[in-house]
Amino acid sequence: MKVLLMLFSTDYVISMNMWVCTTGTPVNIIVGSHVWVEDPALAWIDGEVSKINKEDAEIRTSNGKTVFANLSKIYPKDMEAPAGGVDDMTKLSYLHEPGVLQNLATRYELNEIYTYTGNILIAINPFQRLPHLYDAHMMEQYKGAPFGELSPHVFAVADVAYRAMINEGKSNSILVSGESGAGKTETTKMIMRYLAYLGGRVATEGRTVEQQVLESNPVLEAFGNAKTVRNNNSSRFGKFVEIQFDKHGRISGAAIRTYLLERSRVCQISDPERNYHCFYLLCAAPPEDIEKYKLGNPKSFHYLNQSNCYELVGISDAHDYLATRRAMDIVGISEREQGEEIDSSVPKDDKSKFHLQMTAELLMCDPLALEDALCKRVMITPEEVIKRSLDPLGATVSRDGLAKTIYCLLFNWLVDTINVSIGQDPNSKSLIGVLDIYGFESFKTNSFEQFCINFTNEKLQQHFNQHVFKMEQEEYTKEQIDWSYIEFVDNQDVLDLIEKKPGGIVALLDEACMFPKSTHETFSQKLYQTFKVHKRFIKPKLSRTDFTIAHYAGEVLYQSDHFLDKNKDYVVPEHQDLLSASKCSFVAGLFPPPPEETTKSSKFSSIGSRFKLQLQQLMETLNSTEPHYIRCVKPNNVLKPAIFENVNIMQQLRCGGVLEAIRISCAGYPTRRTFYEFLNRFGILAPEVLEGNYDEKFACKMMLEKKGLTGFQIGKTKVFLRAGQMAELDARRAEVL
Ligand code: ADP
Ligand code: MG
Repeated sequence: MKVLLMLFSTDYVISMNMWVCTTGTPVNIIVGSHVWVEDPALAWIDGEVSKINKEDAEIRTSNGKTVFANLSKIYPKDMEAPAGGVDDMTKLSYLHEPGVLQNLATRYELNEIYTYTGNILIAINPFQRLPHLYDAHMMEQYKGAPFGELSPHVFAVADVAYRAMINEGKSNSILVSGESGAGKTETTKMIMRYLAYLGGRVATEGRTVEQQVLESNPVLEAFGNAKTVRNNNSSRFGKFVEIQFDKHGRISGAAIRTYLLERSRVCQISDPERNYHCFYLLCAAPPEDIEKYKLGNPKSFHYLNQSNCYELVGISDAHDYLATRRAMDIVGISEREQGEEIDSSVPKDDKSKFHLQMTAELLMCDPLALEDALCKRVMITPEEVIKRSLDPLGATVSRDGLAKTIYCLLFNWLVDTINVSIGQDPNSKSLIGVLDIYGFESFKTNSFEQFCINFTNEKLQQHFNQHVFKMEQEEYTKEQIDWSYIEFVDNQDVLDLIEKKPGGIVALLDEACMFPKSTHETFSQKLYQTFKVHKRFIKPKLSRTDFTIAHYAGEVLYQSDHFLDKNKDYVVPEHQDLLSASKCSFVAGLFPPPPEETTKSSKFSSIGSRFKLQLQQLMETLNSTEPHYIRCVKPNNVLKPAIFENVNIMQQLRCGGVLEAIRISCAGYPTRRTFYEFLNRFGILAPEVLEGNYDEKFACKMMLEKKGLTGFQIGKTKVFLRAGQMAELDARRAEVL
């Protein structure tokens, strides 16, 4: 029995915007019609119209209530929808929001977690192991099977991408999106496993490329994942894995690109979250390692004991420690490097000389120099060079800054080392890229991280819209019908607002960061002035520093307080000098000396601008590939199986562009039926046409005209109906029957 549990997620503050595919005029709703009507708790509830008074209907809902709604707000329910749902939304006779939701709910109850919307795969997190779904037998089944022949599956998408690459010699990409905990990373791993299965070699001696590609996952997860309130194994970075294939379709190389690792987590966590997994793994290392790296109980470390959560249910840190070390062996991180890199991950406590000494030993630098670098700043005036002591707060900021810098450099080093070890194939004919990146975020407080994440999603949304639009056009062209009037909402204006150069938010932020006198107040004032009349920018009435962006998925209110700090990415010269002089070659290697001539301003490097550039490169790569989309959905916020929260899911479908894809399709001809299917269902409306012995195509046309429908199109093999026309025909059919 499925529990229909309704939780209004308090984190999500975007208003629900019920969007429905319709022609605008209510289709033949009469007393006795089965309909869907909005419901505050369930999003939509079905019922039967019991009275109609002009524009208003009275509806008896299936949960025993009587509600009233305007005719324009209720939608016909397809009474002939198959009991088990349909595996592709485009097979729904009535393509509207409640129909989509109902279909997903029906399937989820049967553990059918995958459903197509045309070429898009929707994957609803089962929150339980479904081993049969991914076993060797399944992989075998999907290998080479025509798309759509078997049940929807992530393997089917990977298979299509692989076949397309082999047959057309073109690169493909699979874009996996969804909110935190929706199942992106698990899905990505499944895709990589399936591609390794298709393109792997017979096991020979040593490490194969595909093994290395697969084993890069646990390594990156140990250093880049953490428990958050949304997901016990949340990736705190974005990832694009490019798998290269040779001319025989065998994996011949791979490259991993990562985006924006969350820096703040290294020094600051809140209950019940955790720091990066690797710290806990280290504390669970075998005794000899504990001693060697001066480890101890995680509770004794300031960076870990800010939260009361140390252990994860069902996870053994000691086991994972060894597993991670093994995975590191496979991805080519040497024993020596594994020893050294651990140095930097030891949390420090600046209050104690003992810890200072210990840290200095681990970083292999002079303890006095370390103390100076943490607690003092060098000021250069025209007359002299002064060493000024930092106040305790300043010293804490300095210590945290150093820890974050070391950690981020370490993470980048890991990625680089893995890439070098796996190796790139310069002769690769084509590749399959797999993108696992954070979905749209809107929390109670939104800072620079959300800004960057939502910027990413705007970019991907534009790519998605353009692609869906193109696919629609191609289908129409194939059927030789007119498509010239289809429109879709372009989000170029939001992108301009953010990334335009000069004058966009990222550029203004960089400017602010370069003027020493700027504060978040002056930055915000500048934004208010510049975007006074911008449609996508809103200044909240009661704030002097917040700003709102009207994103494609909803409005998000950003707090500008830490935008300036978070955008600045430079290593304090004192830290740089200290660590580039470390006797540990690994540590020194993380801090190569900067080029000589750096001046104050050129030292400033902006995280926002660099991220923008990374995104640009990603989009260029994606644009040169044939994309495939997987939209992961998190069915509930309690991370449990069999709980399907309607309102929550509706929201995600909207943010993930699934509804937009359907809307694009609705703007054209959302219902397509082969001539045969069409006549089979509606022949009864005009028996004389059926008796006339016309060819199917002509019969369909005649029948539609006889019934007074306009705007439909007759393609080469199918009838294309406008939104709502199917329901209209059904209503007439119901009268006849
Ligand atoms: P995301 O990367 O979107 O934040 P994850 O891929 O880490 O989310 O998934 C969160 C959790 O959900 C996983 O740790 C796992 O427990 C569960 N999960 C996700 N996808 C599946 C799946 N296909 N089968 C079983 N469990 C899954
Ligand atoms: Mg993830």
